[in-house]
Amino acid sequence: MSEGRPVSLAEAAEALLAAGRVVVLGHVRPDGDAIGSQIALASSLLAAGKQVVVLNEDGCPASLRFLAGAEMVERPGGGEVEADLCVALDTANRSRLGEGCLASTAAVPMLLNIDHHISNERYGDLVHVDAGAPATGQILFELISEAGLPLTPEARDSLFVAISTDTGGFRYPATTARTFEIGAELLRAGADAGALSSMVYERYPFRRIELLRELLGVLRLTSGGRVASWALDLATKDALSLQPDDSENLTDLIRAIEGVDVAVFFEELRGGTVRVSMRSKSAAAADVCEICKTFGGGGHALAAGARIEGGLGEVSGRVLDRIDQTLS
Ligand code: AMP
Ligand code: MN
Ligand code: MN
Repeated sequence: MSEGRPVSLAEAAEALLAAGRVVVLGHVRPDGDAIGSQIALASSLLAAGKQVVVLNEDGCPASLRFLAGAEMVERPGGGEVEADLCVALDTANRSRLGEGCLASTAAVPMLLNIDHHISNERYGDLVHVDAGAPATGQILFELISEAGLPLTPEARDSLFVAISTDTGGFRYPATTARTFEIGAELLRAGADAGALSSMVYERYPFRRIELLRELLGVLRLTSGGRVASWALDLATKDALSLQPDDSENLTDLIRAIEGVDVAVFFEELRGGTVRVSMRSKSAAAADVCEICKTFGGGGHALAAGARIEGGLGEVSGRVLDRIDQTLS
């Protein structure tokens, strides 16, 4: 597949301003950065008088429905959408937009791909990938400013959540001085950091803690203590009635163990696949994007993932072996 044309932020802004009807997409199993970015862009475009449709293959996860504007997020299925421009946010591979979203937007003549994943496939017609940005939400703050679009209260709060979740609360190494400046600008514009953080980080369903109890029971340290991993099988997921977002960022906890360089979460999915979620403590220790790419996945140097066919024990064995080879 041929790559799209790389565009500056100014050119991306021009494309947005030229469109009357815009569809905003994000990745499957959306996180705070994907949903926050989708809501922010949609809200700003609506306030500028444009027609906007927000589609996500899996809809807005329950944990993020508190965001004003979350009700705009629809699942595909309502037939083909007519629009002038489709914008894909926070999504490295076209396939991660989801089959339903791709089918619903097949007739839209222009696709603008805005992302911060180094592994982005550069799909679409216009491509703006800034791998130096710690969150797609940070790029969107700049884009909304560049385009002169209104920063609505919905956009302001959604961008704060997008940036906060992808930086682990302004902590991860990808966080820049500009990230803090944008955080400050969002607060000056009225964002309530305490209230938003409380909604994101202090409102976990009890299921998440039950899941943690299960995972701690199967926690393994390998590669001489440099790799921590845990695995979740279908039976446990069913027994706890887990939702996809219940495990969001849980693996950060075991990456934080002293001496651990890489943390891995293996999740058995229906249909004989395993979802692998990998975290590295530093780029010097391991580039988990490179490791995940060898299994057909991708992401960032310190946070990456893949979906691998096979059973839980077999896949985890193969992946842990590969990490061990990389570390030594
Ligand atoms: P996760 O571990 O699911 O939170 O994902 C960490 C990062 O890796 C995110 O930025 C994802 O976009 C990326 N990622 C996760 N799974 C995949 C995959 N199957 N293919 C490509 N990138 C992925
Ligand atoms: Mn994301
Ligand atoms: Mn992101």
